[in-house]
Amino acid sequence: MTFNELGLRSQVVKAVTDMGFEQPTPIQQEAIPHLLKSKSDFVGLAQTGTGKTAAFGLPLVNRITESRKYPTGLIICPTRELCLQIAKDVTNYSKHEKSVKVEAVYGGADIQRQIKNIRNGVSIIVATPGRLCDLIKRKAIKLDEVEVVILDEADEMLNMGFKEDLDFILSATPDEKSTWLFSATMPKEVARIGKTYMTDPLEVSIGNKNEGNSNIDHIYFTVKERDRYAGLKRLIDFNPKIFGLVFCRTRRETQQVAEKLGKEGYSAEALHGDLSQAQRDRVMNLFRNRSIQLLVATDVAARGIDVDDITHVINYNLPDEVENYTHRSGRTARAGNTGESLVLINTREKYKINQIEKIIGSKFTAAEIPGPEAICAIQLESMIDKVKATKVNEEEIAPFIPHILEDLEELSKEEVIKKFVSAEFNRFLDYYKKAGDLNAKASDRGDDRGRDRKDRGRRRETDANKQRFFVSLGDKDGLNPGGLLRVICDATGLKSNTIGRIDIMPAFSFFDADKADADKILAQVNGADFEGKSMNIEKTQEKSKGGGGRGRGGNRGGGRGGDRRGGGDRRGGRSGGRSRRR
Ligand code: AMP
Repeated sequence: MTFNELGLRSQVVKAVTDMGFEQPTPIQQEAIPHLLKSKSDFVGLAQTGTGKTAAFGLPLVNRITESRKYPTGLIICPTRELCLQIAKDVTNYSKHEKSVKVEAVYGGADIQRQIKNIRNGVSIIVATPGRLCDLIKRKAIKLDEVEVVILDEADEMLNMGFKEDLDFILSATPDEKSTWLFSATMPKEVARIGKTYMTDPLEVSIGNKNEGNSNIDHIYFTVKERDRYAGLKRLIDFNPKIFGLVFCRTRRETQQVAEKLGKEGYSAEALHGDLSQAQRDRVMNLFRNRSIQLLVATDVAARGIDVDDITHVINYNLPDEVENYTHRSGRTARAGNTGESLVLINTREKYKINQIEKIIGSKFTAAEIPGPEAICAIQLESMIDKVKATKVNEEEIAPFIPHILEDLEELSKEEVIKKFVSAEFNRFLDYYKKAGDLNAKASDRGDDRGRDRKDRGRRRETDANKQRFFVSLGDKDGLNPGGLLRVICDATGLKSNTIGRIDIMPAFSFFDADKADADKILAQVNGADFEGKSMNIEKTQEKSKGGGGRGRGGNRGGGRGGDRRGGGDRRGGRSGGRSRRR
């Protein structure tokens, strides 16, 4: 099937042809003809990398043939990176259609400039939920003429605590519109959004519901906890051409793993929320240009990564919420490529593999961490391939050759080869000479139990870097996690990913922030305005040192009102109610 046969206008077909797309992908073949013809709602279940942006972007652009002052299309997505990517793609689809104007609105950028651009007239808005809510509340955007609302990566938006924001945004759009929802997985919450806001949607699924991309091989390796890092290095060394993403569980672990790899000569950089936007952009550009081979990232930081030819995703640690595994592994095998998702587990984590298998609907292969000999053989082969493929710069090297040949005159060809290879390779051979078998056996479980305890201790240490705050407003005041984040970030200029867990209770709320930012937050957020109400905040105090991990901060609430807050937070923690975790 060709793009012409889908029923798109010639300008739109020309634009996709310019982009080098030859054939529509399966989700495009299924979705586009329907979205062009029918006004009904639509649910597309597709992983990232399947071409879903064009599946909704092309039919949206196709229907806009005249300039309008107010938006016709509204695309809502979870992150700034994805927002920019979609806006760029949609702008490309509409490059031969002058009447289409696209504007990306997202947090952390100058809101006044965004407002000005919107006032000048835009036909398609691509937005993150928080910033869009802000613009609606400021009456800076009129959504009365919206004909199509697209919710992209709906599962991610709900994961990130944007449910209330989405409710608010959807209630600001006309009843008479089409809603197109795209999601990689279909948890109950997404199905509920579908039920609440859509009428008889046509459901198209590429792969089974909640199932991962079939081009991905899922493989796990069992190591002793203390060998996790050594295991990671072996997986990298066994795949010399790797261009991969390494996922860690926390920012701290991400930074530590990237630093260690960097020190040991691997081409790796960290990507996590403690970096400034400029630092994150720099790292992403290095990765995109393939100037680095490995990106070590947290789940949150890796959202919206749109690099197509990632060969491997390595789960250094599995995510706390197993559902996130699908998002991780979906970063490989994009655009019809194949890829591998490798998982390192310790001897006590096999049950997590079973849980994930149920979610992705396919089986993992249990594999052995490669041994030293296999790795050295692969590395040598790769080096020889590299030598063979090296282009000789005849002219530049010519003046040095007589001297080099003279110096090496005494050696035979075989000796020269051995010496050059050894110069490159000795360090590597030395490392692996001492290395043994890293595969853990069932008898190693006792070892990992001790480690688990230590690991929990370390997690508490991480939490000790957080300050919990009490907030005087709650659900009854219309506060939700997105709204609270917005107030904090607007008042302080901090990035939203520096704020940790948020718990919204009926009459008050709590949030965690880095201790380093605590005084700044207290000074600048206390007394801030939230929809005409003054938001008062206080630091909660610890009752005892080291007590309590995540979500138990409220139990430590001392001082004025401490009991009340403690009780409230306990309830919130158990019900898991309106909370958002990072
Ligand atoms: P998406 O799932 O929208 O993130 O798309 C994944 C990648 O596939 C992007 O780099 C797109 O540019 C590319 N892509 C989308 N549709 C096609 C197509 N029909 N032919 C070739 N590449 C495509």
